[in-house]
Amino acid sequence: MYNELISFFKDRFDTNEFIPLHIPCFNGNEKKYLESCIDSTYVSSVGPFVDKFEEFMSLITKTKKTVAVVNGTAGLQVALRLVGVEKDNEVITQALTFVATVNAIAYNNAHPIFIDVDLDTMGLSPRAVNDFLEEFGELREDGCYNKSTGRKISACLPMHTFGFPVHLDELIKVCNSWKIPIVEDAAESLGSEYKNKPTGSYGEVGVFSFNGNKIATSGGGGAITTNNTQIGERAKFLTTTAKEPHPYEYVHNELGYNFRMPNINAALACAQLEQLSHFLESKRNLAKEYQVFFKKKGMNFRTETSDTKANYWLMCIELENKKERDLFLKVTNKAHVMTRPIWQLMNKLAMYKDCQKDKLFNTRFLESRIVNIPSSVIL
Ligand SMILES: *Cc1c(COP(=O)(O)O)cnc(C)c1O
Repeated sequence: MYNELISFFKDRFDTNEFIPLHIPCFNGNEKKYLESCIDSTYVSSVGPFVDKFEEFMSLITKTKKTVAVVNGTAGLQVALRLVGVEKDNEVITQALTFVATVNAIAYNNAHPIFIDVDLDTMGLSPRAVNDFLEEFGELREDGCYNKSTGRKISACLPMHTFGFPVHLDELIKVCNSWKIPIVEDAAESLGSEYKNKPTGSYGEVGVFSFNGNKIATSGGGGAITTNNTQIGERAKFLTTTAKEPHPYEYVHNELGYNFRMPNINAALACAQLEQLSHFLESKRNLAKEYQVFFKKKGMNFRTETSDTKANYWLMCIELENKKERDLFLKVTNKAHVMTRPIWQLMNKLAMYKDCQKDKLFNTRFLESRIVNIPSSVIL
C-alpha cells in the first residue's frame, strides 16, 4: 500500500540503499577551517573560531550576545539559572519534547510542570499555560507562585518542535502578565522565524544545539543567545568556570561550569553556518515536494503556520491514528527508509512521572500520530 511512497523517497534521495532520517552535510569550508585550527594549535577552550562563531550566531539570530557552549543541554541548564531558576522552583514546559529540555530543569534541582501543546505548532500552548496559571498561579511581589505546591514558578521553557515556532506573541503576553521569564529551547529551530524575526531572539534567553543530528553541526556544541547584555556577560562568566578577572591568581567566588565550546568544534560550526541559508533553501524545497506528494495521497504533511517560517529540520506527517502510524513505521523501516515516531511523552518517564501536568489532550493526540520522515539536505 505504501509502494508509491517508498519509490518517492528512493527517487528523491536518489538511492536504493538505506535512507537515514537526517545526516549532516559538509560541503563548504569544514576541512579548511579544521586544518587551520589544528595548525594554529588552538584546538581547545579558547580561540578565534569561538569568537567568530559567537559573532556569526548573533548576526543570524539578531541578538546582542551569543555564548558558545559545549552542547545544547548544558546551554539550557545555564539559561534557566540565568533567568533566576533556583532549587525547588518550578518551570513550565511541554511533555512533547526531547528529554534534554526537561533534564535541564532537573539539573537545577527544579521541578517541571507539563502543559499541553497546540495542535498546529506542536509546541507549548499559550492558552493552556494561561488556563493553568488562572487555576494555580498566584502573583506575589517577587513573581508567580503555584498555589497547589507553594513553590515559585520561575521560568517558562517552550520548545520549537522540529523547527516549527510556537505562538510566541501570545506566549510572551501570558508570561509577562504572570511575571514569568521565557527561555526558548531553540535547539531544533536554527533559521526558523516568527513574524520575520528569528526564534531564540524572543525570550529572555534562547538556546541552540549543534549536535550532529541538527540542521548545522559542530560535532557537539550549543549556543546561548540573548538581547540582555548583562545576562550575556553572566552567561560567559558562568560557563567559563566563573573566574574573576585577575592578572595571575585563580579566583572563583561562585559555582561555575566548564561548559566552553572547544575552538576546533567552533571551526566546524563556522563552516556550517556559512551554508545555513543553502541548507534552509534545500530543506524548504524538499518540504514543498513532500507537501504536493502527500496531498495527492490524501496524507497530512505538517507545514509551517501563518506568520512563521520553519527551518524544516525534521519533517513529519500526521497519520490517522496509532494503528496507521505503526503500520507506516513498520513498512517504511522494512524498506530501509528511516522513519521514527515522535518522542515518548516526558510525563511517562520514570524520573518525571509524578510531576504536575494538565490534561495534555493535544500532546497525547500528536504522540500517537506524528512520524518523522527523511529530511536531510539534498545537494
Ligand atoms: C538536541 C536537543 C537538545 C539538546 O542538545 P544537545 O546539543 O544534544 O545537548 C535540547 N532540546 C531539544 C529539543 C533538542 O532537540
